[in-house]
Amino acid sequence: MPNTKYIIVTGGVLSGLGKGIACASIGMLLSSKYKVVPIKCDGYLNVDPGTMNPVEHGEVFVLEDGGEVDMDFGHYERFLKVSAKSDWNLTMGKVFHEIRIKERRGDYLGKTVEYVPHVVDHIKSRYLGVAKAEKADVVIIEIGGTVGQIENNLYIEACRQLKKDVGADNIMYVHLAYVPIPSGVNEQKSKPTQQSVTMLRERGITPDMIVARCAEMLTDKIKGKMATFCDVEKEDVITGLDVDNIYKIPLVFEKQGMVERLNKKLKLKIKPDLKHWRELIVGYENTPRTVKIAICGKYTDLEDSYASVVEALHHAGANHKSKVEISFIETTGFENLSQELESFDGIIVPGGFGSRGIEGKIKVIEHCRENNIPFLGICYGMQLAIAEFARNVCGLKDANSTEINPKTPYPVIDILPEQKTVKNKGGTMRLGAYPADLKKNTKISNLYKSETASERHRHRYEVNPLFHKILENKGMIFSGMSPNKLLVEFIELSHHSYFVGCQGHPELKSSLLKPAPLFYGLIKAALQR
Ligand code: GLN
Repeated sequence: MPNTKYIIVTGGVLSGLGKGIACASIGMLLSSKYKVVPIKCDGYLNVDPGTMNPVEHGEVFVLEDGGEVDMDFGHYERFLKVSAKSDWNLTMGKVFHEIRIKERRGDYLGKTVEYVPHVVDHIKSRYLGVAKAEKADVVIIEIGGTVGQIENNLYIEACRQLKKDVGADNIMYVHLAYVPIPSGVNEQKSKPTQQSVTMLRERGITPDMIVARCAEMLTDKIKGKMATFCDVEKEDVITGLDVDNIYKIPLVFEKQGMVERLNKKLKLKIKPDLKHWRELIVGYENTPRTVKIAICGKYTDLEDSYASVVEALHHAGANHKSKVEISFIETTGFENLSQELESFDGIIVPGGFGSRGIEGKIKVIEHCRENNIPFLGICYGMQLAIAEFARNVCGLKDANSTEINPKTPYPVIDILPEQKTVKNKGGTMRLGAYPADLKKNTKISNLYKSETASERHRHRYEVNPLFHKILENKGMIFSGMSPNKLLVEFIELSHHSYFVGCQGHPELKSSLLKPAPLFYGLIKAALQR
């Protein structure tokens, strides 16, 4: 395409309306023909979300290049078939960090460095830079949070100015709002949308399209109201319907003619083919089969903490034509274990940090190992599976990770050598994609259908090489090792229906059309139970 097209997506009324999914869905509709690149702008002052507690901000998503980014990148990658890059996530922390470096270097010598033009110009140059570097046909820029939040003003100003830089035919503004139906009134209400659009217009942007989240399809009447008050065409008011399955959103948008409106506004020519996508969703919906999976962790207060794990389970289920019912089990103060776990067909112990809830997780793992319950341990989950095996099979009493007990007599999990001197916390873990060589004829190599596998990592600890022999002698299989043969990347047990662990995070690369092999294997084993 001669000109990159820009779609700016802002939010109004409240956060958590699914703006990331809306962006990913719009992108998905365009991605069959065009190269779509998403950019996410967050207002906070952390350089990246890697230093935030997932209960505060949701899962930290890790990219191939090692970038720790907003969880919306999970949606983008799952819907758009792109491998995102760290550069595509802007935070105000990153922006100001870069401005300060430029200022110290003398790039602005003689000038007072100001929000406008300097910071706004810098943000715009980041947008244009990504578009150019990626040779993008379409760039979708999502502004996190809502219009009116003070930390978003610079992004919004940059997006307003962008119209002049790229030309009115090459940019459109989409506003995601909310239409409540208050109980008692039982009528769709447009006022919150009108108010947030007013706020957007105060900042110089009139939306070209409104996506209004609502529990029902919007009535013609309310669409008319919004068109009048918000200065859009009625056809450009699209319902962001509440759905039980986020993968339906592209279908919901398409059915309402969103594609034609995008084509018209941006002078595009696209007719997406959603046949395979639709078939998988319909198949998933109508299947009579169900498996029950428990995710046992400590960030269970906010399900978004495990967003990619949840999605990967659904992908695997859809490809086995079986629904996956997911329960979250808090392992802190975990007591009536066998009772609680009895009803599940498979268990996941996901990634995590620190010592809270650890003994509960180890008990869960022991229960799975001894009762032949399909188990997948991810990162911390794999490390704790090693600790459990060391304690209960190898007889190494109080074996542990030094992350939990630095004085353990048997440090079966220990800090990676290159991590010992690391002082700064931000962006310093072993991050991003690393390959592993897989042992032939193992469950894991059979699932990957390959002798190598690459998964994304985010950790500081490893299986201590001093204990490799002891563990292997007792039957722990290291089915995948780093190419230099030092680091355990995958483990499994034979004589068990499915006892598998992975140092990386296979959930991060899973998608509906291409489920992660280890999740596929877990659901398969769970169905056979
Ligand atoms: N806390 C462990 C480590 O740093 C595991 C990390 C994780 O589960 N992502 O190695």
